[in-house]
Amino acid sequence: MAQMQPFTLQEVKLTGGAFKNAQDVDLKYILALDPDKLLAPYLIDAGLPLKATRYGNWESSGLDGHIGGHYLSALAMMYASTGEPELQKRLDYMVAELARCQAKNGNGYVGGIPEGKVFWERIHKGDIDGSSFGLNNTWVPLYNIHKLFAGLRDAYAYAGNKQAKQVLVGLGDWFVDLIKPLSDDQIQQVLRTEHGGINETFADLYVLTNDKKYLETAQRISHRALLIPLLEKQDKLTGLHANTQIPKVIGFEKIASLTGKSDWSEAAVYFWQNVSQTRSVAFGGNSVREHFNPTTDFSQVLRSNQGPETCNSFNMLRLSKALFLDKNDVSYLDFYERTLYNHILSSQHPEKGGFVYFTPIRPNHYRVYSQPETSMWCCVGSGLENHTKYGELIYSHSDNDLFVNLFIPSTLDWKAKHIQLTQTTRFPYENQSDLTLKLTKPQQFSLQIRYPNWAENLTVLVNGKPQPIDGKPSSYVAISRKWKSGDTVTVRFTTATHLEYLPDGSNWAAFVHGPIVLAAKTSTADMKGLFADDSRMGHEAKGKLYPLTSAYALVGDPATYLTRLKPVDRLEFGLDSLTLQPFYEVHDARYQMYFQTFTKAAFNEQQARLKQQETESMALEANTVDKVNCGEQQPEVDHQYKGEKSESGYDDERFWRRTRSYIDYQLQNKGLAGKYLTIIALDNIDPKKVSFLINEKPAEILSAEGKTIRLKVGDNEVITLRIAAQNGQSTPRFNQIRLLTR
Ligand SMILES: [Zn+2]
Repeated sequence: MAQMQPFTLQEVKLTGGAFKNAQDVDLKYILALDPDKLLAPYLIDAGLPLKATRYGNWESSGLDGHIGGHYLSALAMMYASTGEPELQKRLDYMVAELARCQAKNGNGYVGGIPEGKVFWERIHKGDIDGSSFGLNNTWVPLYNIHKLFAGLRDAYAYAGNKQAKQVLVGLGDWFVDLIKPLSDDQIQQVLRTEHGGINETFADLYVLTNDKKYLETAQRISHRALLIPLLEKQDKLTGLHANTQIPKVIGFEKIASLTGKSDWSEAAVYFWQNVSQTRSVAFGGNSVREHFNPTTDFSQVLRSNQGPETCNSFNMLRLSKALFLDKNDVSYLDFYERTLYNHILSSQHPEKGGFVYFTPIRPNHYRVYSQPETSMWCCVGSGLENHTKYGELIYSHSDNDLFVNLFIPSTLDWKAKHIQLTQTTRFPYENQSDLTLKLTKPQQFSLQIRYPNWAENLTVLVNGKPQPIDGKPSSYVAISRKWKSGDTVTVRFTTATHLEYLPDGSNWAAFVHGPIVLAAKTSTADMKGLFADDSRMGHEAKGKLYPLTSAYALVGDPATYLTRLKPVDRLEFGLDSLTLQPFYEVHDARYQMYFQTFTKAAFNEQQARLKQQETESMALEANTVDKVNCGEQQPEVDHQYKGEKSESGYDDERFWRRTRSYIDYQLQNKGLAGKYLTIIALDNIDPKKVSFLINEKPAEILSAEGKTIRLKVGDNEVITLRIAAQNGQSTPRFNQIRLLTR
């Protein structure tokens, strides 16, 4: 088959339905943001006068400027998709301002990272102290600057902004010089810290300029610690920060496509297969508290209010798209479509706007939405982009053939071939799509219609006449003929509901109809922070956790689970007192997507056991004023982690951090309710070999037994805990610190 090509966003227009609505709502959000506020970190770093103060939240607590990079991408793609002139105006303005900062800096650099010049100079000199999210105690600086690289690339590639290409090349050359003195080992040390898809952007720079030095750089800044196990077809992903890994793999795939390194591409395929098949839940998302859980145990995903992160799916879709195009393999679209409807589309509030960070699968929990003035999280950055580019894969083409991949109402204008196509459909609310062709003259080509893996009894009619079908699910059905203007094609199929179990083999399952994941709204009570404030963790749904034992379960003969669904309307089903509907329609509510399945006897046994566990853990939570999960990115950032000669890891399904020098955390003692600090490690804690300081004074040790130590805290609203190693000896691996009332 000839190589698959995408259409540009300019060639495809959405004409109605949920995706068009999502695009319209995102457009409003994009326009609600102030370019001058987003530019402020760049002006600060260049020493230029500000036109507006920077945004708060993550834009002024270390990740300054990252949304500005995403904003360039969002403006460029939304402009390509809609032609809205205000977007181009803003894009041109943003790029010109960035060019002004770059000129002022004088060495090609432009960025929003706090104290950027001092920071990069240290790296240039080989002074590198990196952990998973901090590089020389700066919050993911390469991740941050990658957003700018990608934004400038998109401004040029999608919207044709030539100045963006100039700024990008200048920035690329600065980076090449920056890392020139570093050895390969030193570069790998830098890459221990989350760095987005920085390798991908250097591959893109090579495509834009044809200058080999960029392609060499792309390979040099590819993270070996991830790549090598993947080359050996080993899944070492459990415990890794998920969204740190996915963009690196997009880079491996891009580099492979440019260099012919087929083993790198196989590594990318292996990663994609493992994540999509063994690490993803029904709606396409992955991870818990941002980290990959064991493939054999999704219990933490079920329990946590920090379910799959939207950025992960944003990047998994980018990887799926790259693999679909490179491999000419339609099966990548089954995952792409599943994730598009059920995670990406669902991650934006369809009326008020606002983006979701975590989508918990914990029964009876809910999600939080961002607001333009308060929320500057990573998932706002990727969220701004998500809803600008729904047209990217509805259609694709080879030299001669036209492929219809998704059933989304839209028009296609294939200018090079003078072929126009209008797709009219109410899918998934009806199982039919009508395609109408408009041609300047009759043309021989093959119209290839995707036969999705979930579709049954697919039929195709041309001008009302049934066509013989040669195809099976997860392939294309080809209709080759001399097409003329006015020809119509009708695609029909049937869809069924099935239960899809979690990949860990446990008894939790979701109802999926065709590609659509179903869920029930269960309550609107106590949805604390439904629209996020500007607090550091405003994206977490902190309202009450309802016990798992109170969630609706499917009990009895497994043969009856599906027959209990009573159709109410198209994609609406009664299940006793619950009503299931597409998850992407579920907003402003607690919901249940996953159901536990039991035989009668197993149910009774399980309930008793769960109740006991929940009582214990809820009692502990109720006594907890604040806590730090050591070695986990977000909890550590939120507790102002600082440290030297410190490393983190994941063993026995738990995260940890240790040090040969010191570790600092700050805990908030609200209302002075906390009286004790309990510190838990994975190794025995010997108080003679490690010291604990609270607000700079040696802490009073109340008890030390095995892997737990208990310290007394004084009357301070802010508790600064320092754990210090003695004589450069490594401390135990600390797992959790809790400030308790009793
Ligand atoms: Zn995110």
